[in-house]
Amino acid sequence: MPLTGTGAIVTPAAEATRGVGAFNVIQIEHAQAIVAGAEAAGSPVVLQLSENAVRYHGALAPIAAAVLATARTAAVPVAVHLDHATSPGLVAEAVGLGFGSVMFDASALPYGENVRVTAAVVERCHATGVWVEAELGEVGGKDGVHAPGARTDPAEAAAFVASTGVDALAVAVGTSHAMPTRDAVLDFGLIAELRRTVPVPLVLHGSSGVADAHLTHAVEHGMTKVNIATQLNRVFTGAVRRTLAADPALVDTRRYLGPGRTAVAQEVTRLLHVLKAPPA
Ligand SMILES: [Zn+2]
Repeated sequence: MPLTGTGAIVTPAAEATRGVGAFNVIQIEHAQAIVAGAEAAGSPVVLQLSENAVRYHGALAPIAAAVLATARTAAVPVAVHLDHATSPGLVAEAVGLGFGSVMFDASALPYGENVRVTAAVVERCHATGVWVEAELGEVGGKDGVHAPGARTDPAEAAAFVASTGVDALAVAVGTSHAMPTRDAVLDFGLIAELRRTVPVPLVLHGSSGVADAHLTHAVEHGMTKVNIATQLNRVFTGAVRRTLAADPALVDTRRYLGPGRTAVAQEVTRLLHVLKAPPA
């Protein structure tokens, strides 16, 4: 199946009040597992590479080539997205490689600067049909939308979307990044209000800290793209650790990465049901 644009997956899902799983890739095994999990669920999916993951690999092109090739061989629609890019240069490189969307994160900048820089990235991306997600910073906490106490102001969010032209907005409703436990308290009333006020699909970051029932509830209240990274790593590493512990003589990397990959695929299928992902 050809690569699918992120907007082509997210827009109809938002209209149908369903969730789109956007899962972060670090190793190639993540990409294979996420696609296999989406195929088993019969739902579209978004593969994301973050600027941090690119830094780990030392360059975007090699891991991007693997992710794009994996997406193109999928039996369900798959989009490839650049997550949390702070560098316009990295955005341009991703667009050149064939990414369908980017999340440009200028949330560390003051509001006016964030608007100016984000609008410029949106203009360049839209010229080639690339969908852009962005976020508002400094809403009640120094970590922007990712601080647990931070909350997005609906009026400011609507103004930000109008003045930047972004296609989706990451909002602060109670999650934070890399949460070790799944006990975040989400503000469902705020999600519903943002859904009414903001004219583009909403994105939840830090979703690994949210219990299953609350993820479903968030989607029912109007959250659409749900970013999940830490939860897959928790499952991957757990399977690897159990496999290595069971056989201390094991040396072939395929013998422990393989079980990790299988476990991640099953978790992706399960999470896509939790998110009420649409049929492919
Ligand atoms: Zn994030």
